[in-house]
Amino acid sequence: MPDARKSDAAPRPGTVYLVGAGPGDPGLMTLRGLACLRRADVVIYDYLANPALLGEAPAAAGRVYVGKSKGRHCMPQEEINRLLAEHARAGRTVVRLKGGDPFIFGRGGEEARFLAAAGIPFEVVPGVTAGLAAAAYAGIPLTHRDYTTSLAMVTGHLTSERDLDHVDWARLARGVGTLVIYMGISNLGEIAARLVRHGRDPQTPVALVRWASTPRQETLTGTLADITARVAASNFQPPAVIIIGEVVALRDTLRWFDNRPLFGRRILVTRAADQAEAMLAPLRELGAEPVSCPTIGIVPPPTPADLDAAIARLAETDYLILTSANAVEAFFARLQAGGRDARALAGVTVAAVGPKTAEALAAFGVRADLIPESYDAEGVVALLRERVAGKRVLYPRAALARDLIIRELGAAGAEVTAPVAYASAVPPGAAETAHAALANGLDLLTFTASSTVRNFAALLDPAQLAVARAIPVAVIGPQTAATARELGFTVAVEPAAATIEALVAAIVDYFEGAGAQRSAPGTQHS
Ligand code: SAH
Repeated sequence: MPDARKSDAAPRPGTVYLVGAGPGDPGLMTLRGLACLRRADVVIYDYLANPALLGEAPAAAGRVYVGKSKGRHCMPQEEINRLLAEHARAGRTVVRLKGGDPFIFGRGGEEARFLAAAGIPFEVVPGVTAGLAAAAYAGIPLTHRDYTTSLAMVTGHLTSERDLDHVDWARLARGVGTLVIYMGISNLGEIAARLVRHGRDPQTPVALVRWASTPRQETLTGTLADITARVAASNFQPPAVIIIGEVVALRDTLRWFDNRPLFGRRILVTRAADQAEAMLAPLRELGAEPVSCPTIGIVPPPTPADLDAAIARLAETDYLILTSANAVEAFFARLQAGGRDARALAGVTVAAVGPKTAEALAAFGVRADLIPESYDAEGVVALLRERVAGKRVLYPRAALARDLIIRELGAAGAEVTAPVAYASAVPPGAAETAHAALANGLDLLTFTASSTVRNFAALLDPAQLAVARAIPVAVIGPQTAATARELGFTVAVEPAAATIEALVAAIVDYFEGAGAQRSAPGTQHS
């Protein structure tokens, strides 16, 4: 009864994708690798694969860490193989996510051989191997017509004299232009000595690149003659690749990554999660390592009744004041909930507090009629005071907003309706994120609203608060600055204009200026 046998049989095995995760920067993962990750049932990943990539796997996918960091094998290779087979045989799509490229010193070869022998279907997705990333991100072309025509990738993970003898150092010394050595930091002295003994010029330049392509990248340069002493003096640690060859000298002119203005600066961003990216992205572009810790999130007010009632009277409204992108979102959410759209604003003059709010409005098809010179409540008051006598003004506001606009425009003769359109709350998990960020060290705290300062301070115990107060603070404007000072922070950066762009530019000026220390003063490398 072949049919019955068939239905009893094990499911068809799933495919195992041996995926190269790249060297660290998640942007260096291939599109193919990402596509595999996005439909994985289970991801089995390593120490060197950037954990940020795991977020790309479906929420329901299993995630198994089998990491190996030098000397701390978390799971023996046979065990990893067994795991791959077990999941595949259960019919699952397995992504075996490996640092760099799976087939370069990553035991991808062993895993593929095992899968082939076990009859489990597999595919290999190449990745940017650490050596290539280290070279690119350190500004070292591995080949260059004027310097070298050949390149070798060599393992330096050789635990005994006999292991070292397995590599033909004599040929590598004289027969190859550029050498890229993986896992070689602990044997660097012996490797350099052998290359020199076999005829390589002791003045050959050498670069060690650690955590290539990440904000933690460090590079130490020297020559075959002095690099070992330099490593000892600076306590340079793995993971790093060693690049040996004349091309290393090109770094002096081609360096581009680790000399960006905010390189390696750890900067806390406390904005709401849905607004953080506008700040995180430019900081990242400038080389910083922004740490997102939203201390505020937007929630609807307990009841939309007041806002709904005000929206029902839009036809009799002269001015609409929107003082944040959140207010814009909240206003249109209720407008649309009532089955209406931007046309309801046909007769209304719309004032936006600044360009970002105007941009949020534009997304709903509305051009702001007015934007004050100063992008804050004072600016709004100055802009409208002379215009609103006898007019009806709608100002959908945040639950805890200052009453300045209501008071001042009221005093100027306006009839101001100010329904609470949204409230803010500290998002769950904020305390843990803040504590971890502080523990890891920060170079700068940023606050783009008074509430973010207050909420942040409230997340900390007295000892943590003391640590935080010792870190310089950047604020978006005078109000936030005042709150920060009140709470004992040192305001070091305050832009002339209260915009994210101006804030980021002021942060760059601050770090480029004198006196800014790094959070973890380490080796100051070339
Ligand atoms: N399959 C990986 C290599 C694994 S062997 C790849 O293709 O990149 C581990 C070694 O890779 C480390 O000892 C170190 O020499 C190197 N390495 C991995 N990631 C690195 C990184 N981000 N920066 C510098 N070296 C790295």
